[in-house]
Amino acid sequence: MKIFDLIGIGFGPSNIALAITLEEKKQVDCPAEFFFIEKQPSFAWHANMMLDNAHMQVSFLKDLVTTRNPASHFTFINYLHEKRRLQDFINLKTFFPSRREFNDYLAWAAAHFDHCCAYGEEVIEVLPEKLGDEIALLRVRSRDKWQVVHERLTRSLVVSIGGQPRIPDCFVPIREDARVLHSNDYLKRIKQHAHVRKIAVVGAGQSASEIFMDLHQRFNSIQIDLIMRARSIKPSDDSPFVNEIFNTDFTDFVFNTPVQERETILGEFWHTNYAAPDLVLIEQIYNVFYQQKVAGINQHRFLRRHAVRKTKAQSDGIQFTLHDLNNDCEKTLIYDAVVLATGYHRDHYKSLLAPLMPYLKDCSVNRQYRINSVPSFKPAIFLQGACEGSHGLSDTLLSVTAVRTAEIAQELMNVINQSKNNQSQRSVTSALT
Ligand SMILES: Cc1cc2nc3c(=O)[nH]c(=O)nc-3n(C[C@H](O)[C@H](O)[C@H](O)COP(=O)(O)OP(=O)(O)OC[C@H]3O[C@@H](n4cnc5c(N)ncnc54)[C@H](O)[C@@H]3O)c2cc1C
Repeated sequence: MKIFDLIGIGFGPSNIALAITLEEKKQVDCPAEFFFIEKQPSFAWHANMMLDNAHMQVSFLKDLVTTRNPASHFTFINYLHEKRRLQDFINLKTFFPSRREFNDYLAWAAAHFDHCCAYGEEVIEVLPEKLGDEIALLRVRSRDKWQVVHERLTRSLVVSIGGQPRIPDCFVPIREDARVLHSNDYLKRIKQHAHVRKIAVVGAGQSASEIFMDLHQRFNSIQIDLIMRARSIKPSDDSPFVNEIFNTDFTDFVFNTPVQERETILGEFWHTNYAAPDLVLIEQIYNVFYQQKVAGINQHRFLRRHAVRKTKAQSDGIQFTLHDLNNDCEKTLIYDAVVLATGYHRDHYKSLLAPLMPYLKDCSVNRQYRINSVPSFKPAIFLQGACEGSHGLSDTLLSVTAVRTAEIAQELMNVINQSKNNQSQRSVTSALT
């Protein structure tokens, strides 16, 4: 079986950026054989949240390459040039393209790597391959839509699988109910709910706000309850000094900070990324509620300072037991459908790597995103998008993607060169004996 230098799980922005870096390095100093495995049938970037009017929340200059190599073929600007829209885009006078356009840019970049990406295969596990006393290789197992299992061998692995929908405990009893959807499935499933009268949107972030506005525009006579524990919807702070936390050198700062103090930094800036929609969106929602007041109707409700305590699926709807934190009382409400905009968790890589856990210590990573392992474990395993705790809030975003891939590629090169040296040393020794 062919042995790859690197297999990447997932082919979202993180691994596309890595493919570009490796391709550009290949031409200079890094002839690595790499391959990617993506579970979606073709490239798509958060397809179920591709809402009309949704815009990027970072500058287009934080694309797949610019901060690492502004002269790359793969810049957003070169994409615009190739699509013959550069001058029209300039006339828009914006740093924030629509999410639809950025998806098209990412798809354009991804298409350059069709020869080394298997779409429609979900990686199900990664197994250790022993050679003597050492784990020398990894066996990556994936399943396609016909349930056929594929196996590939690799010397190193990069896991870039994004987030998996987070379902808080109180919603676990209803999670499988057809009337309950997570924002991750929003566009695919909301059409089935065109007949509903009352819908709850749970969450205080960008997705909850976008979904509230989308439902308001999509279904005229529906009643939407926007439910959150917070007292108000706070805007994301993208002012320049705060935004410096997304600069690449801030990653060094966070990583070099003692572990106990990292949490303080993450806490201080948590609102730059979580539970913090764009101001313009907040103003749109405010206007919806204001226009209700003008019209003297009470269609949608903003249930702020409300915590969902219990949920239950009933024949007449989904029952919520809510704790009104302002008045310290409980109330019961029934909804025809529920949208959970409750975010993502990012530790699913631990399930994929479960067979390797005895070798991976505590799954901590070094500065180059490589998981620390026992000495007999030779393959390098890198994580992208799952290192917020050690590398800072930019880890799950696009901000540092381009530069991060250069750091990973450099470490990968060291691993490849080391293994080549070991191999040639072994062949010299065996020739002499
Ligand atoms: C709606 C939405 C909007 C966002 N907008 C912005 C923004 O404007 N700016 C910003 O900086 N960040 C934004 N983000 C954050 C987002 O995480 C990053 O933009 C970016 O998508 C991270 O790229 P990634 O490749 O690490 O993860 P993802 O984009 O999530 O890609 C992971 C890929 O791995 C695949 N995969 C998962 N499991 C497997 C498996 N077992 N086998 C094979 N393939 C698998 C998935 O199908 C997916 O294609 C947004 C997130 C969401 C949800």
